[in-house]
Amino acid sequence: MAFERTFSIVKPDGVARNLIGKIVARIEADGLRVAAAKMKHLSRRDAEGFYAVHKGRPFFEELVTSMSSGPVLLMVLEGDGAILKWRDIMGATNPAQAAENTMRKLYGRSIGENTVHGSDAPETARQEIAWFFPESEIYTKN
Ligand code: ADP
Ligand code: MG
Repeated sequence: MAFERTFSIVKPDGVARNLIGKIVARIEADGLRVAAAKMKHLSRRDAEGFYAVHKGRPFFEELVTSMSSGPVLLMVLEGDGAILKWRDIMGATNPAQAAENTMRKLYGRSIGENTVHGSDAPETARQEIAWFFPESEIYTKN
């Protein structure tokens, strides 16, 4: 499996419910490592830019409002097959359809408040990481 980086967010609903520790513990237990991390309260403009791919979808407004409703934890994760591994740990977008023991099944409240974000492919991972972290703030170990 290829060594990869992926981008993850503990969304405002996860930070507000004190779930950072549980989520990071699972990331580390499953063999990924945190290579960069910072908290940030996204502005509406930040959230609109980050989710620009969803502009025009019926849920876009709700998504931007909820992502800018409180601070988030932004992280770069790395390890073998990190992109798919983190997507597997997160579970399906809709918590009601997420597999047992995934973050969204355990902690998600609704499709809009599904607690975590993860990149879906190498190109989006690169773009999302670069949006928030200069290379000098990423501490790689491979
Ligand atoms: P994922 O986060 O699993 O990659 P998407 O990229 O399709 O999912 O959507 C981005 C985010 O937008 C989701 O995590 C979810 O919070 C929100 N979202 C997606 N679809 C809906 C929907 N039908 N209604 C409300 N929010 C949605
Ligand atoms: Mg997505």
